[in-house]
Amino acid sequence: MTRRLSGVGVASGVGIGAAWRYVPPEPGSRTRVELADASAQAAAELEALGRRLRSAGNEAEAAIIDAQAMMATDPELIADTSARIADGASVEQAILAAGAAAAGELAALDDEILAARSADVVDVAQRIARVARGDAPPRLERRSVALAADLPPSITVELDPALLAGVVLEGGTPTSHAAILARALGIPAVVGVAGLLDAATTAREVAVDGGSGDVVIDPEPAVRDAMASRVHGPPSGADDALRDEPLRTRDGHRLGLAANVARPDEVRAAVEAGAEAIGLMRTEFAFMGRPGPPDERVQRRAYASALRAAAGRTVVFRLLDAGGDKALPYLELGPQPNPFLGMRAIRLARSHPGLLVTQLRAVLSAADEVGAVAWIMAPMVADLGDVRLLRDLLARAQGGGPSPPAVRVGIMIELPSAVLVADQLAAEVDFLSIGTNDLTQYLLAADRTNAALADRQDPLHPALLRAVREVVAAAAPRDVPVAVCGEMAADPAGAVVLAGLGVGELSMEPRAFASVKAAMRRLSLAEAQELARAASDAVSAAEARRLVDERLATATS
Ligand code: PEP
Ligand code: MG
Repeated sequence: MTRRLSGVGVASGVGIGAAWRYVPPEPGSRTRVELADASAQAAAELEALGRRLRSAGNEAEAAIIDAQAMMATDPELIADTSARIADGASVEQAILAAGAAAAGELAALDDEILAARSADVVDVAQRIARVARGDAPPRLERRSVALAADLPPSITVELDPALLAGVVLEGGTPTSHAAILARALGIPAVVGVAGLLDAATTAREVAVDGGSGDVVIDPEPAVRDAMASRVHGPPSGADDALRDEPLRTRDGHRLGLAANVARPDEVRAAVEAGAEAIGLMRTEFAFMGRPGPPDERVQRRAYASALRAAAGRTVVFRLLDAGGDKALPYLELGPQPNPFLGMRAIRLARSHPGLLVTQLRAVLSAADEVGAVAWIMAPMVADLGDVRLLRDLLARAQGGGPSPPAVRVGIMIELPSAVLVADQLAAEVDFLSIGTNDLTQYLLAADRTNAALADRQDPLHPALLRAVREVVAAAAPRDVPVAVCGEMAADPAGAVVLAGLGVGELSMEPRAFASVKAAMRRLSLAEAQELARAASDAVSAAEARRLVDERLATATS
């Protein structure tokens, strides 16, 4: 039976594969290899993994594994384990207990980075326990999505990347090493998926969208096909050839090419992949999987590092989009019978103004520190009332600052009401970005997490295309730029239609750059415009998609 779950997407991309469950070793007493040999072998395995990462160009990630190799023979860890063995524990029991104790000490420190490292110690201890038991490392037999309470970082790296289609964790945080490594290896990953292990006990196949955080267990054929069409393989030689090319139509009409990222440490890779800007930084991920919101200092550090990595390019910081399917328990919003129609995003300004003011302060001070312009974007704006709410929050955040940086204020167009009053909105903001994921769900009243409605969530629906046209027309007289940052921009068929509708910038996960650039080059601007008109006149999303697919298939680049 199909089950749809959601969590925090921490490594973008879509992957589909057989369900592969990782179960950590239990502290048994089957010791075949003594402690000294087991720790040496575990260290050697980790060194080999580190070398593999380094030779693939993942220097920073190799350093994580190298640090683990050192932990495997750490004198304190070994001494504690030996003491436990002397007290009668087996090697496995002793190393797992010693690892848990060391991890507990790290987790208790008031430092997010060190606390996240506690998982690394547990990982090392589990590896030594596995070696002591005489077992081989886990391996995949076929293309699979790994499911676990928490996937140890070294296991994430050890699984054959050619077979690892995705990672889904019930626990985990965006800063956990499993998440960082999955991002570095380009493996779609979602963490914090409540109820995953129960829902997946008999799962055979899993589809994961590391951008939206959606996880579908045993997808029905329609859902599977829809997600499969969004799987981007590893970059090919042809992709590399387009890497330094702009996003343009066959006759040279240029569109801005921007990246969607969820974490500051994704900015560097996005820039290397050719992003001209970060069109959407989904900041909410730093607020998830923790007991309370990150403080201003922590946020400022993260935002400043994103701005530095962007090296002068625009970074659009989207204000916290919590609520909906991204619940933050510590906000205590109370029962939300319809979370997507409930307290979400900018609506939190009334109940939790301090939360948003702190975030705005962090963005402003990070921009000030780096000497960048602060680009701020509010999600879920319904009307001018919400724009003014944003401006009030911004004024509070700016109050008292010695040298406020230049600020550009924008909003997401993702509610039908915002489309209808887009002319009013454009009069009071610096830029608009259309969130087609939410706009599709709200226009068509089709919950984006409901698998049974997957066929009603195609943004090529004529209603959505007409809405985009309206927004472009409302913004044009005021010279307000219009971007699209929903998944539609990453879909080659969606991208060419958006170009034809007059959208100026497309923001997407960097893995989609090559396929979108290739599709865009197949049509002239006039052809894209003609196609957009025909698709807007179609009577269904299916008809519109057929028209676009046929046109792209017959176009000559
Ligand atoms: C969207 O709604 O299209 C969007 C980009 O925002 P999110 O997917 O984060 O809601
Ligand atoms: Mg949205």
